[in-house]
Amino acid sequence: MPIKLPSFRPRRDAYPPDLWTKCPSCGEMLFNKQLDKVLRVCPSCGHHFRLSAETRLGLLLDHASFVERDPGLESEDPLGFVDQKAYPDRIAAAQLATGMRDAAVWGTGLVDGSPVAICVMDFGFMGGSMGAVVGEKVTRAAEHALAERIPLIVVSASGGARMQEGTLSLMQLAKTVAALERLRAAGVPFVSILTDPTTGGVFASFAVLGDVNVAEPNALIGFAGARVSAGTIAQELPPGFQRSEFLYEHGFLDRVVHRSDLRDELVGLLRYLVARPGGAVPVEDEEVIGLPNFRPFSFLSNLAERVLPGEPDTAPGHGNGTGEPVSTERASRSRARPSGSEAPSVGARSGAAGAADPGPSPSEPEDGASVDGSPSPDEAAVAATEEASRG
Ligand SMILES: [Zn+2]
Repeated sequence: MPIKLPSFRPRRDAYPPDLWTKCPSCGEMLFNKQLDKVLRVCPSCGHHFRLSAETRLGLLLDHASFVERDPGLESEDPLGFVDQKAYPDRIAAAQLATGMRDAAVWGTGLVDGSPVAICVMDFGFMGGSMGAVVGEKVTRAAEHALAERIPLIVVSASGGARMQEGTLSLMQLAKTVAALERLRAAGVPFVSILTDPTTGGVFASFAVLGDVNVAEPNALIGFAGARVSAGTIAQELPPGFQRSEFLYEHGFLDRVVHRSDLRDELVGLLRYLVARPGGAVPVEDEEVIGLPNFRPFSFLSNLAERVLPGEPDTAPGHGNGTGEPVSTERASRSRARPSGSEAPSVGARSGAAGAADPGPSPSEPEDGASVDGSPSPDEAAVAATEEASRG
């Protein structure tokens, strides 16, 4: 009688990827459903996994308050770009995988009852790369915020500019910054939230221009990748280089906030930054309630008038020496142009964006374990181009 051997079936070490995710930081196997419940933050080490744009909007905004704008903007292929795949094929694949048309979504919503304009990027769509569509959406969000005088929130998650659109991608840097500058001039708040990763052209433009720049813990934030930076300066980089905490310690960020506190943080910031309705005091009445009319500029020029004898009225520059009339004039001017930018910006002709690839790993958007630190060749190339074009 033959001996019956136990069957040696291969052990099922491989976890089905749709059920389990391995934490890239501590190696723990995490059950996906459980992970979703804790906002995709590893319970054992606190690693923040990447979020889809939809999840992010759900996390930050009041329930069901989001109304998407310009959902139809889509990339074209102005350069006829082909690498391993044709650019339109890449976009189609990314659209199929993510259900999005491009790497950003913008619209309006409520945060604790107050309206905001919000634009959220999704790293899962071609590495969150910024082509004409992403740039246009950020710009339109900013212009809407300006027209409505509501705060702007941009959540960045991007490998940088999208190389498949060449210089059109780089143009988005200037376009978005110009829109934000108008926002700044009008005194409309802009909160930038930087998530893992925020690099390349996105970092080099709108992501770090917030009135408040908030980042999630341990997010990769920087311009060029660590390898490129180390090569450029021919020095070893300090530990934690280009991580949120490092940037915070060096004054580049205002806050590093755990994901579970992010919404509360945002609510608090908006309370500080947004004047409450009816709470604004007209400029003329300020002294009535006993508050000194203190502004650094008027204070200094008044002081100068007292200290320096004579000729206060011939002071060069704007205004008439005393800061007082200048500031009222400025205030009324900013009141007088409430909807400065109705015109749609000339950016993305509805659809020219595409695919900046995070690099060699476009296939692992979801597991969060993927692209870390080292830039893909694409990013590096884009970064180099950007550097060259700036320098
Ligand atoms: Zn972990």
